[in-house]
Amino acid sequence: RHGMPRPAARRIMGVANQKGGVGKTTSTVNLAAGLALHGIRVLVIDLDPQGNASTALGVEHRTGTPSVYEVMLGEIPLEEAVAVSTASPNLLCLPATIDLAGAEIELVSMVARESRLAQALNDETLSRLDVDYVLIDCPPSLGLLTVNALVAASEVLIPIQCEYYALEGLGQLLSNIDLVRSHLNTSLHVSTILLTMYDGRTKLADQVTSEVRQHFGPTALRTVIPRSVKVSEAPGYSQTVLAYDPGSRGAMSYIDAAREIAEHGASGAYRPDGR
Ligand code: ADP
Ligand code: MG
Repeated sequence: RHGMPRPAARRIMGVANQKGGVGKTTSTVNLAAGLALHGIRVLVIDLDPQGNASTALGVEHRTGTPSVYEVMLGEIPLEEAVAVSTASPNLLCLPATIDLAGAEIELVSMVARESRLAQALNDETLSRLDVDYVLIDCPPSLGLLTVNALVAASEVLIPIQCEYYALEGLGQLLSNIDLVRSHLNTSLHVSTILLTMYDGRTKLADQVTSEVRQHFGPTALRTVIPRSVKVSEAPGYSQTVLAYDPGSRGAMSYIDAAREIAEHGASGAYRPDGR
């Protein structure tokens, strides 16, 4: 254990990008595992009805399992639904069941519909769970579930796939973040950009990388996650890539990225308007 610092204050990060398949879930679970490996305590919130983060963390999420859905509806306290991941005793997970698919609509008519998750993630509860980081795996949309994540978080981590159209739709995400910041959560900021599925054999990957670095500066982590078959195989075994193949490039790069996040703190925040 060569010290990754525990943060002075708890960090709550929403992992968001309304595009599907960019590496939100993969990055959430593997960064969480990378932090947990160094004795940092992490709670992953699975906010995607597909429940892929729950699967990768080896946490039950069949219908009927107490989940983030009942917590957001106020039916049960957070602690009743949190499970310990098979990946590490330092890694907790609030699972998602398919019931969450209905929440996007059910929430519409509810009081404080944008801040149901924030309320559940209150300080007392998180202190009792003794977590240093909360990582929220958002669904591929900008609907109410993602808004709940953005209201609950103080930081946003945006995974960007090194592919065609990587930056398409990013403007919409950033303006939604701005809206949430001005109306619901003044502390919200984009703290981290993570480039994923980098394929060094393509010119395109380098073009996307330099475009992102130009635009986001130091908010983009130096570590880039390579495209690797091990990363995509791991969830099939209900594992993170750190457990599935600890020596793989995928595992190493997620550990490096986790270290950068732990070291770079909440600084390097991207401010589109220069504030
Ligand atoms: P999202 O949560 O944004 O929809 P996922 O994390 O589920 O994206 O990733 C989409 C797909 O790409 C999954 O099948 C996943 O296993 C695969 N994948 C993610 N990262 C990598 C990588 N670095 N190398 C290879 N495959 C990856
Ligand atoms: Mg996902």
